[in-house]
Amino acid sequence: MENTYLPVAIIGAGPVGLAAAAHLLARGITPLILEAGPKAGSSIEEWAHVKMFSPWQFNVDKEAAKLLLADGWTPPLKNEYPTGRELLDRFVRPLADLEQIKHHLQLNTRVLAVTRVGQDVMKTQGRSAAPFLLRVRGPSGEQDLLASAVIDASGTYLTPNLMGAHGIPALGEIEHAAHIAYGIPEVLGRVRNRYANKRVLVVGGGHSAFNVLQDLVRLTQEGPANQSAMGDPG
Ligand SMILES: Cc1cc2nc3c(=O)[nH]c(=O)nc-3n(C[C@H](O)[C@H](O)[C@H](O)COP(=O)(O)OP(=O)(O)OC[C@H]3O[C@@H](n4cnc5c(N)ncnc54)[C@H](O)[C@@H]3O)c2cc1C
Repeated sequence: MENTYLPVAIIGAGPVGLAAAAHLLARGITPLILEAGPKAGSSIEEWAHVKMFSPWQFNVDKEAAKLLLADGWTPPLKNEYPTGRELLDRFVRPLADLEQIKHHLQLNTRVLAVTRVGQDVMKTQGRSAAPFLLRVRGPSGEQDLLASAVIDASGTYLTPNLMGAHGIPALGEIEHAAHIAYGIPEVLGRVRNRYANKRVLVVGGGHSAFNVLQDLVRLTQEGPANQSAMGDPG
């Protein structure tokens, strides 16, 4: 099957997926951006309260900036560090709202599987020339879409690293999932009540762990009887 007329599917409308779309458009290739959430940058919404560790100059793709500048966008200061919210408001959402991008963006559309047309465990002949087939679940149910290529820009936020060693869950991690949060929960905001006046174990010793520890300390200072301890699985 001839597939050069098909779009290039991009899984995810975060900053990387949208930047990939800008690069495809610059080369005259049609993107098809499939975003599971109701808005572009849905995963960043979950950590919008966190200040980023890289300044604007490393967060804005050049091809995306060209499209935005042509639309009258005012670039942020290169050396300032945005929060997740500022990344959304000043870059991700304006980019997704551009006519050239919006036209190719399907929101509320989750990619469930990616395969090649006509291929299965019994048939692999001509596999590399066969178009990609994406099974998606969108507002009107499940459907199959065809693409000439697929760019996976689905990020890592929805598939966090497990606490256990060897790439598998720690003993009891699945059983006690209801008591475990991944990422950087908004301890001083949305989920304050879950952490206030509780003893909290923070697993890990990286940037995210220290970020949440600082918030837990502030929570302790703002309200009595909250304690935190830190452990490292590694
Ligand atoms: C607290 C925190 C702070 C961070 N700070 C920095 C920083 O300072 N600098 C830095 O460079 N990076 C930072 N990161 C990493 C940051 O996540 C990435 O740089 C950036 O968001 C990556 O963009 P992305 O488009 O690859 O992924 P994401 O922003 O995660 O976007 C992926 C998108 O794909 C969608 N999606 C996922 N699965 C599917 C599916 N099956 N079908 C359809 N859509 C799907 C999601 O809804 C989401 O909108 C930070 C991350 C966190 C959690």
